[in-house]
Amino acid sequence: MPDCAAQTTRFAPSPNGPLHLGHALAAIIAHDLARVSGGRFLLRIEDIDGPRARAELADEYRRDLEWLGLEWDEVPAQSTRLAHYSAAADRLKALGLLYPCTCTRKQIEAAGAKPGSDGLIYPGTCRHRPPDPARPAALRLDSARALALAGPLVWEDALAGPQAVDLSGLGDVVLVRKDLPASYHLAVTLDDAADGVSLVTRGADLFAASHVHRLLQALLGLPVPRLHHHRLLTDARGEKLAKRRGSPALAARRLAGEDGRRLADELRRAHLALGT
Ligand code: GLU
Ligand code: ZN
Repeated sequence: MPDCAAQTTRFAPSPNGPLHLGHALAAIIAHDLARVSGGRFLLRIEDIDGPRARAELADEYRRDLEWLGLEWDEVPAQSTRLAHYSAAADRLKALGLLYPCTCTRKQIEAAGAKPGSDGLIYPGTCRHRPPDPARPAALRLDSARALALAGPLVWEDALAGPQAVDLSGLGDVVLVRKDLPASYHLAVTLDDAADGVSLVTRGADLFAASHVHRLLQALLGLPVPRLHHHRLLTDARGEKLAKRRGSPALAARRLAGEDGRRLADELRRAHLALGT
């Protein structure tokens, strides 16, 4: 149950394509948890996440959220925060916790990487390899060293309860991409701290990522938000609704004249029925 303290929550879409029902539910949950506590609901456009990120989609998202009857405060998009990400990466580098990795996806597959909670777990090929400055490198977190430095850590999920930080499903994640001064993990952790987000809500598909974020909060001395991972809407066959083929985008429903507030209330009821 939410306590009485005012919470700051956020909806943080990556502009890779139109918003669908799953996004609407995520935004509504974050919005309602902020409102019920008398707090703030933020919109942050995560426009470094993915090569297909497109600025013009952000306008469409704002129209979609308005159509759903939500009000928000917008904070700066990720693309304006690159210097902040670099500074944090430098601190982790100075602690000896990052190493360059020049592996391609094919090489990682060929090295016999095992599946983890979010794709293949990096097998550590470059961990002790001298850097090759001639090839573009990502920077990976030396998770064993980082965990040893930080010591045992716990985070709390509103539904699943206390979680001991465990990176076995993720391994040495990328914190600085080959083409950008951050990855999703580094950017989102820094942003939530910078934006004063006190309650992070996201779909259960990102549950494992919270282990990485908790570790980064400890290493970088950032505040630790509360977390609420919500179940994902699925159709009768158990397929995720967020990107289901054939499920019309919010923008299409809006342009067809559907009542967005009514849809939002239907999603609230569907969410209640899920029990989370
Ligand atoms: N930008 C991420 C996405 O659209 C969500 C970030 C988060 O909630 O941590 O999937
Ligand atoms: Zn590598």
